[in-house]
Amino acid sequence: MRLILLGPPGSGKGTQSERLSDEYRLARISTGDMLREEVSLGTELGKEVKGIMELGKLVPDEIILELIRSRLDRDEASSGHILDGFPRSVAQARALDAVLEEKGTRVDAAIALEVDDEVIVKRLSGRRSCPVCGAVYNLLTAPPNTVGICDLCGEALILRDDDREETVRERLRVYRSETEPLKEYYAKTGLLQEIDGEGAVDEVYERVKSAIERLN
Ligand code: AMP
Repeated sequence: MRLILLGPPGSGKGTQSERLSDEYRLARISTGDMLREEVSLGTELGKEVKGIMELGKLVPDEIILELIRSRLDRDEASSGHILDGFPRSVAQARALDAVLEEKGTRVDAAIALEVDDEVIVKRLSGRRSCPVCGAVYNLLTAPPNTVGICDLCGEALILRDDDREETVRERLRVYRSETEPLKEYYAKTGLLQEIDGEGAVDEVYERVKSAIERLN
């Protein structure tokens, strides 16, 4: 099964894709996580993309496609994958189709999580992330056991630079102009599943699962 999770920043793609990857044994591929890892390791690539990410802009396609190609090659043996945060434009979606075609496979569904902009701004300003293990918390809905400390590795939690309100608004603008047209792209081939992404994590997960089960 090859799934794509679409949705604005803060719509729950990361949380939902982690659960799906556990339950359906799919490799989870998040381009945002891959880029953040390069930044925290201080690699050449990390230095190149850090400023772009802090501004909430899109990293150039050549860089993203290179990352995705190498990950898909590595995961070739797996029973499938779930893509979180990629593709983010029609050009990236076309490139993905071409890569998958070379491998004799294709996307099975694009699941779009729908969340209102103001709900997103509220969610992201409460989001706290662990800079070491990548665990994600929310001050209102999923706080850590000890204030400011990661439950899993004990590191101090941070507010991601790109979760500040100004940057969130820019990321939303980029999403609406570059990424949202993908819904039409996948609707044309019957692959789009639109899901209400508001409400509790468990409720949204049930909606996502029903959409996946309808595929079979
Ligand atoms: P995310 O964690 O998916 O919200 O991604 C964080 C940031 O990484 C985005 O705001 C972009 O700057 C960059 N990024 C992640 N995935 C992509 C992609 N597929 N294309 C371009 N930029 C990306």
